Amino acid sequence: EQRAALASWEGPGRTKDGAPVKLLANVADGASAEKAVKQPIEGVGLFRTELCFLDRQDEPSVEEQAEIYAKVLAPFGEGQYVVVRTLDAGSDKPVAFATMEGEENPALGVRGLRLSWGNPALLDHQLDGIAEAARRTGTETWVMAPMVATVAEAKDFADQVRSRGLKAGVMVEVPSAALLAHRFLEVVDFLSIGTNDLTQYAMAADRMAADLAHLTDPWQPAVLHLIAITAEAGKQVGKSVGVCGEAAADPLLACALVGMGVTSLSMAAAAVKGVGARLATVTTVQCRAMAEAALAASDPAAGRAAVLALAEAES
Ligand code: PEP
Ligand code: MG
Repeated sequence: EQRAALASWEGPGRTKDGAPVKLLANVADGASAEKAVKQPIEGVGLFRTELCFLDRQDEPSVEEQAEIYAKVLAPFGEGQYVVVRTLDAGSDKPVAFATMEGEENPALGVRGLRLSWGNPALLDHQLDGIAEAARRTGTETWVMAPMVATVAEAKDFADQVRSRGLKAGVMVEVPSAALLAHRFLEVVDFLSIGTNDLTQYAMAADRMAADLAHLTDPWQPAVLHLIAITAEAGKQVGKSVGVCGEAAADPLLACALVGMGVTSLSMAAAAVKGVGARLATVTTVQCRAMAEAALAASDPAAGRAAVLALAEAES
């Protein structure tokens, strides 16, 4: 039945009883955006801008940035939107013109939005480039910052984005942001949960360390509780709370995330059909039961087994 559903599923993202869930793609550049738009998606939930600049020594001009970003925005039109993430340089993604050198603990260091503290012009130029690309293409553009830990950082960022007429959000990748999601939502338009880093920081386990894979598993109940807190805060105020980490690409976990109140799922384009097809087989009530089971589980394996059993139960 699952295979037949996969073959016939055409989007848009809906549960079996018709509740909408926005399915979005993660992209890295114009070429991946062109490819992603062929999938049944409603836009891009994560454009990782730093990936455009991994081979650059110097900061690109605003005009150069506008051209690069416009290539990602252009394929998307009516009824679609693109979430552009500002530079997430540092740690696992070194960018020559932005990254701090010689940090002892780069994952806990000056990375992501923190780089703009010492170099505000970097963010200023990037926001100018994004705003110009949005103007040229007419594509609905949302902008979010990575590695945000405090409400004050979120407010300052949101002010800068809104002054350019764009929708402003932040990623929830640091447990502090999940725990205070309701306060963050007072100052931003949307939140997007980055489960890769949220898991790393919640479990104190390096996401690149193969030996720690059992800890850096988004099915870890502690991580899911942070996600549930964030999604619940979004529901309370009716603002969009998405997931854009690897967790969104796992069809079973995606159902549980929807059950927690997550409103969009952004993933590698190749994963969209599998997630959409699975979601179409479960009701909202089932999704809620799946969320509860995953949250109550003692460990990732137990959570996955319980959620699978619920997915396969008659609805
Ligand atoms: C994440 O941390 O989950 C995320 C989406 O960002 P990145 O993988 O680029 O760090
Ligand atoms: Mg991240």
